[in-house]
Amino acid sequence: MDTRFFVTWMEEITTAVHAGRDRLTRLDAAIGDADHGANLDRGFTAVAEALAARPPGTPGAVLVLAGTTLIRKVGGASGPLYGTAFREMGRALGEAPDVPVAALASALEAGLAGVRRLGGAEDGDKTMVDALAPAIRALARCAGEGGEPEEAFAAAAAAAEEGAKATVPLVARKGRASYLGPRSAGHEDPGAASTVLIVGALGTAAARRRPRTG
Ligand code: ADP
Ligand code: MG
Repeated sequence: MDTRFFVTWMEEITTAVHAGRDRLTRLDAAIGDADHGANLDRGFTAVAEALAARPPGTPGAVLVLAGTTLIRKVGGASGPLYGTAFREMGRALGEAPDVPVAALASALEAGLAGVRRLGGAEDGDKTMVDALAPAIRALARCAGEGGEPEEAFAAAAAAAEEGAKATVPLVARKGRASYLGPRSAGHEDPGAASTVLIVGALGTAAARRRPRTG
């Protein structure tokens, strides 16, 4: 995957988050403060603008700019967390002009480590980690088996989705939802839901890069 792919990934996230804004807001209204949709819509719109204004020259630079923009534009927990994730991913990619799936999985791993370091969430705390961690495991597994990026992205998206659905019965132990204690159970975590959109956008970006013919 080249620089163009990573710009397209960010554009596809922006589109998906905009389309999913109301759902993310509803999820955050149930166990938070109803701003997750607005937060990410504002943040990724700014990311798309920043990328258009100052097109970066490497995949790593795309992700660092995205992360920095999210940290700058998004208040609330998710801005610094996603911002750190993208920045750490970008740093992990370094100057590489082209990124195979295995390297993308390693970079995502570095991003997840950043999220854990900053937010202290473990698996099962009902956060974005519960969608991101299984998605990365699926991506790494597919990369190890030498599959096509499209297959790896589909597997990662399915794992993220499953992880997000599995947050429904959980009691939140991190973030605003944790203030509700047991009453946080019965609702999907908004950050896990937005991670599904972010991971899912890998697949739509790949589809846009290689339009199917016939
Ligand atoms: P805020 O909670 O400040 O209003 P958002 O609504 O934008 O911020 O984001 C909420 C989401 O952020 C949660 O659904 C959860 O997935 C994620 N989150 C919150 N705290 C943490 C944390 N410590 N570690 C990982 N993710 C977290
Ligand atoms: Mg919120």
